[in-house]
Amino acid sequence: MTSTVNPSTPRRTDARRTLRSVADLLDAGLVTPEQAPELEQVARQYATAIPPAFAALIETPDDPIGRQVIPDAAECHTEAVEDPDPIGDDALSPVPGIVHRYADRALLKPLLVCPLYCRFCFRREHVGPGGGVLDDAALARALDWLRTHTDIHEVVMTGGDPLMLSPRRMRAIIAALETMDHIHTIRIHTRVPVADPARLDDAMADALDTTRSMWVVAHINHARELTPQARAAIRRVQARAIPVLGQSVLLRGVNDTPDALEALLRAQVSARIRPYYLHQLDPAPGTARFHVPIREGQRLLASLRGRVTGIAWPTYVIDIPGGYGKVPIAPDYLHTGADGYLRVTAPDGAIHRLARERG
Ligand code: SF4
Repeated sequence: MTSTVNPSTPRRTDARRTLRSVADLLDAGLVTPEQAPELEQVARQYATAIPPAFAALIETPDDPIGRQVIPDAAECHTEAVEDPDPIGDDALSPVPGIVHRYADRALLKPLLVCPLYCRFCFRREHVGPGGGVLDDAALARALDWLRTHTDIHEVVMTGGDPLMLSPRRMRAIIAALETMDHIHTIRIHTRVPVADPARLDDAMADALDTTRSMWVVAHINHARELTPQARAAIRRVQARAIPVLGQSVLLRGVNDTPDALEALLRAQVSARIRPYYLHQLDPAPGTARFHVPIREGQRLLASLRGRVTGIAWPTYVIDIPGGYGKVPIAPDYLHTGADGYLRVTAPDGAIHRLARERG
């Protein structure tokens, strides 16, 4: 075991298997023996997994990659505003594996296993290797619910991470959805392309091939996550004419500077990924160290207006705590002046009156 770790000492782990325990983290030199007792306490509450491909990107334990996946003693401290179910999934679940929040779409969560466990995850109270997979009977009930709800046109497969299923099971679920005429669109939310790109192989990409409108939404928080291997995995999906969108969480110490956010957005566009959402962090327990205030997030985005191409521009959104839905919280460029005319703010910050428009 390693005796001490200086968090600022450059290092790279050569782990060949997924790091899952405090002992694994000590062996990899990602935490110190002094941290171990508190991290054992964290481990009793929350799962850890760092696959080799992701571990290889960690240069120092507190860098933008390490911060996302290495457990921290602060996770045991819950603030009053934090909630184990911050976006209200549980109350909106008519049967296990389904969440129905919006009229035309529903979430299908076939499993609660992920390739890695993000320390800021909004479902952290539910996901983990013990969270399991819907068994055949439970999956059949979830699919029956979708079959009988003909106002649902889009199924968002999430979890956990649906790309942790075997290609055979993924194909079976998609085949079942293909028998439902009212389901036009299938969306897959996944961290696999960056966390464990080899898992998204040709067999899995073939399993996603469907006559329905299929979209893959990749969760990526830092430009360094888009390695050549991750880009190759994404190309396997794109080669099947499946568009790939990107979603990111605004995270302190990861992507909360203009340069880091710009690099993240540009990296996605360079991989033909359309940035879709930039999420305000959900107040899940023990995640305060990642919080960036909304006004700061707005200023950050505004600083990139005019500097970054429009096709790289994500919608900055918040899931209203309590399960009231997702809404945009982009910087506001329009306001009404004292004279009743609308004013717009230009990318350089200058304010212009719209001569023909009264508020
Ligand atoms: S991959 Fe998604 S569901 Fe899994 S831990 Fe990360 S944020 Fe949570």
